[in-house]
Amino acid sequence: NYHVVLAENRKLYNEVQDLKGNIRVYCRIRPFLPGQNQNHSTIEFAGEDGELIVNNPIKQGKDSRKLFKFNKVFSQAASQEEVFKDTQPLIRSVLDGYNVCIFAYGQTGAGKTYTMSGPSLSSKSDWGVNYRALHDLFHISHSRRSSIMYEIGVQMVEIYNEQVRDLLSTNGPQKRLGIWNTTQPNGLAVPDASMHSVNSMTDVLELMNIGMTNRATSATALNERSSRSHSVLSIHVRGNDLKTNTLLRGCLHLVDLAGSERVDRSEATGDRLKEAQHINKSLSALGDVIFALAQKSSHVPYRNSKLTQLLQSSLGGQAKTLMFVQLNPDVASYSETISTLKFAERVSGVELGAARSNKEGKDVRELMEQVASLKDAIARKD
Ligand code: ADP
Ligand code: MG
Repeated sequence: NYHVVLAENRKLYNEVQDLKGNIRVYCRIRPFLPGQNQNHSTIEFAGEDGELIVNNPIKQGKDSRKLFKFNKVFSQAASQEEVFKDTQPLIRSVLDGYNVCIFAYGQTGAGKTYTMSGPSLSSKSDWGVNYRALHDLFHISHSRRSSIMYEIGVQMVEIYNEQVRDLLSTNGPQKRLGIWNTTQPNGLAVPDASMHSVNSMTDVLELMNIGMTNRATSATALNERSSRSHSVLSIHVRGNDLKTNTLLRGCLHLVDLAGSERVDRSEATGDRLKEAQHINKSLSALGDVIFALAQKSSHVPYRNSKLTQLLQSSLGGQAKTLMFVQLNPDVASYSETISTLKFAERVSGVELGAARSNKEGKDVRELMEQVASLKDAIARKD
């Protein structure tokens, strides 16, 4: 019957997710903005199967084209809803006790905030991954409430020049935070930031107002500052299984990273140079950690930045990681696009390529086929 099919479908789907490896990289190409010349794109091809071809605007011949491969590529036309759909299984696994980190990486203006938060909160169709995730977690946790009672708490911090600040503090944003290394039952290190219990999107939207006010009062030019700091929204889930009386905990970190653009050292001075150095250092530290995890290296260098320290318990081990690599297709961004893609290649290349045996590849394909046929069966029942 329907429920058996559904349960089986879910099980198979989870197996597929697990087989896929713990580090996933999705690429999203931002559309041209009004006034940008659409003919000046560096992206030659972006395919369903995760392939992307980038064209060097000043070179000719076969050397001018470079192929990159991702778990998934979202073209300019992809909606917020489509992007979320491919992220949803990962997000839901938090309710089963997994820790998940989702990052948006790319130069300023490439669409990181669009993907994570969305361009506005007033229209649901605009919502980015953060709000869709919370909405979905509320929905699923309510639907399970006869068997598991969930509590959901959120924290939001900003990391600017290697200092962590609580963005949801009701006493103003200025307090600098340490990072607790208290070991909770699941080994989570929680920053010393205020934790807010939430039950509905109304609660969340109210909190976000505090967050935005805190962010705004700590900087005169909000956009300037937000592109030079990392913002981390952490969703902590605690579920009490009523039948077995066991507790499960999961955590979802949603990270809008600082802009990855390189700053010309000959031009930047003072605060601007200091900011650039901090950003550079923390993004390389993140790259090093993910690279070490993908290599299954015995030493993972978490201690080199506040960001990786904060996320330590949710990076590696059983945790799942997803990186959105954001691209601006304009020719003027070509060299930043290449450097973004090189970062992506470094963090994903090993895990996606050599590390996966053919056997796994075959199992994934078989499972995918079974999932597809089960989905068809369900669709016919509806
Ligand atoms: P970032 O956070 O990487 O600096 P933003 O998310 O602020 O970049 O995006 C820069 C501009 O491009 C904004 O005006 C944003 O609304 C727009 N934009 C980004 N991604 C998309 C998209 N997928 N569709 C439509 N507009 C987008
Ligand atoms: Mg931004």
